[in-house]
Amino acid sequence: MKILVINAGSSSLKYQLFNMENASVMAGGVIERIGEKKATLIHKFFLRGRETKLVKEQEIKNHKIAMHMVADLIIDPEKGVIDDIADIDAVGHRVVHGGETFSSAIIIDEMVKQTIKENSRFAPLHNPPNLTGIEVAQQIFCNIPNIAVFDTEFHQTMPVKAYLYALPYEYYEKYKVRKYGFHGTSHKYVTHKAAKLLRKDTGEVNLITIHLGNGCSMCAVKNGKCVDTSMGMTPLAGIMMGTRTGDIDPAIIGYLMEQTNMDIRGLDSVLNNSSGFKGICGMNDMRDIHEQASKGNNKAKLAVEMFSYQVKKYIGSYMAVLGKVDALVFTAGVGENDDFIRYRVCKDLSFLGIDIDPEKNSQQPSPSMPFFIHTEDAHIQVWVIPTNEELQIARDVLQVLQ
Ligand code: ADP
Repeated sequence: MKILVINAGSSSLKYQLFNMENASVMAGGVIERIGEKKATLIHKFFLRGRETKLVKEQEIKNHKIAMHMVADLIIDPEKGVIDDIADIDAVGHRVVHGGETFSSAIIIDEMVKQTIKENSRFAPLHNPPNLTGIEVAQQIFCNIPNIAVFDTEFHQTMPVKAYLYALPYEYYEKYKVRKYGFHGTSHKYVTHKAAKLLRKDTGEVNLITIHLGNGCSMCAVKNGKCVDTSMGMTPLAGIMMGTRTGDIDPAIIGYLMEQTNMDIRGLDSVLNNSSGFKGICGMNDMRDIHEQASKGNNKAKLAVEMFSYQVKKYIGSYMAVLGKVDALVFTAGVGENDDFIRYRVCKDLSFLGIDIDPEKNSQQPSPSMPFFIHTEDAHIQVWVIPTNEELQIARDVLQVLQ
């Protein structure tokens, strides 16, 4: 079974072709700056166990041309990994917002596309390009199922007390204002992986999954299901992130509009693009922040302090929600690579049974290999599990097909 996973952004297209017999990647890559004069394509393919990389720079006018390039590369007589497009069994599409409608992956028909379009009101930067990717793929891969997998899906098991905001109830009824949660495929992937590592069924594990990348979110997982998550109606809520505020007092918005004469669009851009680490210290990449902090930059130090403090606070509140916790799971760019942040987050939590071993924490494991960092006596295990959202999408697609 061969599954092509597509993640279409406003000017980018990421893709991976999986052989589901052994969950291996046959080819994959990314096209960036679609629509600009100089787009870049990085394509990797694996033939007879050898990885080969291809880089191209050329104008790629739109997603349709980009998708054709992907299809051509996959079946190229020399560089291709399959003989014919018809060898692909299904295409899985990452869709950011499924609203309340979708609690699992689904074969895309007109009704599904219409609902994705309606949900663009919650994810105006993500759902429209996701839909473009779907429409282009449906033209090229027209004889095989195109299946949507939603970032919000994993969080659909949250109880109403967790997902409702204390606003007038009619706003939920009329406008669907509620918490949806994001990074669902990542939280789902690490939940399954953690259950395996803990030698338990997924339905038996209680976890706090901590996805720290450019975007950051945390999830309280009870018996394998999400019962609460830090992001909200949009991916702006929760922990502070690279450029996003995370939780702030909602009254700040009106106050700043008055003080600065900014309109709601301008302010929305500040909250999404110039806040978080960037707002505090002017940098949004954690590697740069550490470098500057080590040179004595106090604002960089403050960003690290604030971030670790916020993640720690969420751990405390999710411990209270879950009662019993088997493991914390760190994942994504910062979660997987940044031992200093993991140390700052877990420090002084031994009263909760969380104790990490500094040596284990600072080891450099082989890429994609999970490892644990808790001490022998700790009551709660702490794991670092590299996420694999594309593989999770392919698995969800497989489940729909089966
Ligand atoms: P995205 O949310 O875009 O998928 P990633 O999960 O790839 O992002 O995480 C990207 C972030 O991970 C980068 O901005 C960087 O701050 C951080 N990161 C990556 N490698 C390291 C590292 N070795 N140490 C600290 N931070 C890292």
